[in-house]
Amino acid sequence: MATVPTLRLNNGVDIPQLGFGVFQIRPDDTVEAVTTALQTGYRHIDTAEMYGNEKEVGEAIAKSDVNPDEVFVTSKLNNNYHGFDAALRAFDRTWEALDLGRVDLFLIHWPLPTLGDFMDTWRALERIYQEGRAKAVGVSNFEIAHLRRLVGASEVVPAANQIELHPYLTQAPLRAFDAQTDIATEAWSPIAQGGVLDDPVIVSIAQRQERTPAQVVLRWHIQLGNVVFPKSTTPQRIRENFQIFDFELDANDMAAVSGLNRDERTGPDPNTFDYVPE
Ligand code: NDP
Repeated sequence: MATVPTLRLNNGVDIPQLGFGVFQIRPDDTVEAVTTALQTGYRHIDTAEMYGNEKEVGEAIAKSDVNPDEVFVTSKLNNNYHGFDAALRAFDRTWEALDLGRVDLFLIHWPLPTLGDFMDTWRALERIYQEGRAKAVGVSNFEIAHLRRLVGASEVVPAANQIELHPYLTQAPLRAFDAQTDIATEAWSPIAQGGVLDDPVIVSIAQRQERTPAQVVLRWHIQLGNVVFPKSTTPQRIRENFQIFDFELDANDMAAVSGLNRDERTGPDPNTFDYVPE
């Protein structure tokens, strides 16, 4: 089984660079998908209260043959629980749903800048971190302006910023800002939900490397230093996405994939996204 490299977060906690994402996996299918991922060798699961499957993620880890302490678990604060007290309560719910006796990384899911300031919410995550209840805390979908505001007024620098990032949205300025600020960049929708897999540049590298397009794109992320967690409910793809540590892309191939950037999002723009569940 391949060894997945880890990245050291700014507080000394290590995160496996490849994980398994469970967005859009129905609760009923989550235990099976996470079980397959753990059997394949994944030791990092990315979930969120918004996905409705935290409980099933915790169940799959608890009933697996893997030591639960070896599995890094991230969850995220849902948009309807911004604010200091609401965020503390939301974390308690996530803690109970996962039922692992710990949370490795807890993120503000979206900044919601049109609805108000996120600093009170971040204060709650700082408290959770300082009390040792989450090993690390961070943010998701934060743009440079949001990070400047947050870092300028905080004791705790976010350990990670989880953003949409793939060959059609390479996010070079935001990645550079994260790096300068010692914030790990996590790439969500790393294969653009499949949307980059037919790209002729990626297909041609894949043919030359005798790999699949998904493997080429995931390998590109790993070599850039991103944390990735592709989602799949297809066992063969879950295994395929894990087999990316026995080949390398050279500088030309890396540049060719990065050159596909079109600043094209598959998801919402964090500056305007204001979805709050009932
Ligand atoms: P991905 O880029 O991981 O793509 C998932 C899609 O690609 C699924 O339709 C899957 O199909 C298909 N797929 C997976 N592997 C392969 C493969 N090897 N070949 C062909 N098709 C493949 O998209 P996600 O949006 O799910 O992003 C991954 C994770 O990022 C999420 O699960 C979640 O954890 C996180 N995320 C975070 C967000 C945030 O706001 N913080 C927003 C969105 C995602 P199938 O399942 O049928 O195999």
